[in-house]
Amino acid sequence: MPPTNLSPFSRRSFLHLSGAASAAAAFSIMTEPLLAAANRPKPLANDKDAVFIDANENPLGPCQPARDALAAIIPMGGRYSDGLTEDLVNTFAQMEGLAPDYVRAFAGSSPALRFAVIAFTSPQNSYVTADPGYEAGMFAAEAAQARVVKVPLTKTYAHDVKAMLAAAPDAGLFYICSPNNPTGTVTPHSDIEYLVENKPKGSVVMVDEAYIHFADTTSAIDLVKAGKDVIVLRTFSKIYGMAGLRCGFAVARPELLEKIMNRSGWNFMPITAVVAASASLKDPRLGSERKRINASVRQGTFDWLDRSRYSYVPSESNCFMLDTKRPGKEVIEAMARQHVSIGRIWPVWPTCVRITVGTRAEMDRFQAAFQKVMTGATAMSLRGADFLRSSREAPRRRNLASTFS
Ligand code: PLP
Repeated sequence: MPPTNLSPFSRRSFLHLSGAASAAAAFSIMTEPLLAAANRPKPLANDKDAVFIDANENPLGPCQPARDALAAIIPMGGRYSDGLTEDLVNTFAQMEGLAPDYVRAFAGSSPALRFAVIAFTSPQNSYVTADPGYEAGMFAAEAAQARVVKVPLTKTYAHDVKAMLAAAPDAGLFYICSPNNPTGTVTPHSDIEYLVENKPKGSVVMVDEAYIHFADTTSAIDLVKAGKDVIVLRTFSKIYGMAGLRCGFAVARPELLEKIMNRSGWNFMPITAVVAASASLKDPRLGSERKRINASVRQGTFDWLDRSRYSYVPSESNCFMLDTKRPGKEVIEAMARQHVSIGRIWPVWPTCVRITVGTRAEMDRFQAAFQKVMTGATAMSLRGADFLRSSREAPRRRNLASTFS
């Protein structure tokens, strides 16, 4: 059954993606906004006063040079102008020290993710991912009729590459999301290298770097340059604040990109997305400034959670997992009644919810609502009271490894 709270558009899309219409599902692309909308409590769908920290969006939106580029391109909207996409690809390739034929632009990284999974998995070649991990690739693997292998994160919330290798000698594609969605934790470059060096012949490692700009970690693009079987995904939806504009890249050896393109086909990019992306890449201060803003709001939230004795997984990204010590779904609904839409749960961690780091004002609203919801629980249920007492008495526990492993 599709959720009842979706807009007519999302509801139709969800039906297509949920397997209810499996023929259509084979051609559809699962995305974060659809997953977020499918899990959003009904009253929030049209709540103009609500805070939405449920879809890992960037509340700052496009930077000023990107906005200027968008405004300036409007008169050119009657032209396909594919040369602009070439300029964008060349700019990115030059910045990363890559040949331009190692880079393909897509309308967001979701199509690249989807079609890479379709290209490299099959009934004989499984899809291997972390649990909890970003779900979109699993939908693609199902469409490819591939076995989906979910491997728990390590105690430090990295991808457990050795367990991933052991679990799937038949792997077609290993999906590594670093920083991970939903935990915001990174997988060391050395672990990714180990995976690449020890993977079954013919398989590929796809490293989704959607959130890399928020974290202090090393990109896997060097492995692409070294000629390895690695596909790196990048998006403009996160630090660049362009989720609604739709632009992303797949970075890989040309023959791997060709296999993805054989599945996805080719289409013109929207020139709005392309010029905004080019302007964002050329803004020298954008990345570091936004990284600092996100880190500062995230740290402020963590400090408050520490003071209030709530547990969470320390994140290096724009989202983190918060321990609700009771079914997360109850907390999502209670927060919705406070006009705060928080992110979904992952079945493997049913007492955790994903929180997106919003603006400071949004996180103030989150804190007030969360405190109300959690303290209200003490008055209403013995279980809630037990939770609060034990969390006050327990030593501060930021690392939740013992809870989840
Ligand atoms: N990869 C990850 C891990 C994500 O969380 C998202 C969106 O939230 C995407 C890819 C897709 O982003 P987009 O299609 O907007 O580029």
